[in-house]
Amino acid sequence: MDDLLAQLRAAFPQLTYTKGTQFCWSPENREVIYRQTASGVKSQWSLLHETGHALLEHNSYEADFELIRMELAAWNKAQEIAQSLHMEIDEEHIQDCLDTYRDWLYKRSICPSCNTKCLQQDDFVHYRCFNCHTNWRVSPSRFCRAYRSTKNVRQPAVFN
Ligand SMILES: [Zn+2]
Ligand SMILES: [Zn+2]
Repeated sequence: MDDLLAQLRAAFPQLTYTKGTQFCWSPENREVIYRQTASGVKSQWSLLHETGHALLEHNSYEADFELIRMELAAWNKAQEIAQSLHMEIDEEHIQDCLDTYRDWLYKRSICPSCNTKCLQQDDFVHYRCFNCHTNWRVSPSRFCRAYRSTKNVRQPAVFN
């Protein structure tokens, strides 16, 4: 892991790598955060994936369906970086991660009151059920807790 970090820092001096509690790319601070205690090949793949987001300058997304497209793009970029470092990311791992993402996006689009699948509102953090008119708010990150609903405050995007 330390070796890979050193290689990435040398290859992409424009990026900042910071220790944290989970892997993510924060466009607001322009930082790639990595899990301090991480080890093993899957962690290396995560680090490459977040680097992919950073290099593609993923800054924000308007709707959940865009997020999955960006996830895929970040993995493609990660695979490119991996090959340049004579590594390879297992395709099955990538598909698993994308499936997990799709599940997560699907679940949050389900009305908590009546279980109808709904469409996201224009502000991208709210859903409204067309069936029973329940409103709910979703978190901008898979790993962030849902925020208390502060209307009109746009949460900064975080990519995992
Ligand atoms: Zn409903
Ligand atoms: Zn991602």
